[in-house]
Amino acid sequence: MHMAQNFTVNSPMTIASLTGLVHSVESCGTVDGPGIRFIVFLAGCSLRCQYCHNPDTSFKRRGKERSVEDMLEEIGRYATFLKNAGGGVTISGGDPLFQPDFTRALLRGCKEMGLHTCIDTSGHLGCNADDALLADTDLVLLDIKAWNPEQYRKVTGQPLQPTLDFAEKLAARGIPMWLRYVLVPGLTDQLVDITALARYAAGLGNVQRVDVLPFHQMGKFKWGELELEYPLMDVEPPEPELTNAVREIFRTHGFADCTH
Ligand code: SF4
Repeated sequence: MHMAQNFTVNSPMTIASLTGLVHSVESCGTVDGPGIRFIVFLAGCSLRCQYCHNPDTSFKRRGKERSVEDMLEEIGRYATFLKNAGGGVTISGGDPLFQPDFTRALLRGCKEMGLHTCIDTSGHLGCNADDALLADTDLVLLDIKAWNPEQYRKVTGQPLQPTLDFAEKLAARGIPMWLRYVLVPGLTDQLVDITALARYAAGLGNVQRVDVLPFHQMGKFKWGELELEYPLMDVEPPEPELTNAVREIFRTHGFADCTH
């Protein structure tokens, strides 16, 4: 079942002219997947995270309509460079699974160019990732925003279970995953829950790496610009000791490379 955007895709011509809402692109990303990445940030997200630093694209769906053909043409200009740099293309957002048909078509086009592909998602719309989309996905960056279901709903406004279902689907298919966890003092810093999450991640068998991302206030101004009430206005980034303690929990569960 597709939630959010739907298209009818019948022929290569239809696919090339399919359009999606693109917030922005970055041609030399270094943190969203291996090597140097071309990153496509799509507009729209099904979550409403308290710490979202892109509420303009996630909540308000601000972006520019672009065709698959147009996007692939732009990506193609970097293809040789990306391959030589051991990188590829990452589709991020917002959430790429909010526009699954556009994402699927982009991934297909990237694979045809021989590029490594990655999606950066919360997994909440994992039901939108069908076989064809997953067949063209080399890596998933999966954000698990909290382990405790009540806490997850508090952070995101939505239930946790769809994300876990998606993680398990990826594990069953052997699709590599990098887990991401945003550490927010007073919100997602319960070490007992983090330990349970680390145990779960270790049990999946497909998690190659864990990135613990300390909360920061760099998106604060966007909430103000959009006249949205920002719930974390007065929250400070975590102390380095707390971040280290959380990373250590993941290290002790076998994730040696859990920096960032
Ligand atoms: S999942 Fe990401 S893009 Fe969506 S609301 Fe949360 S932080 Fe923002």
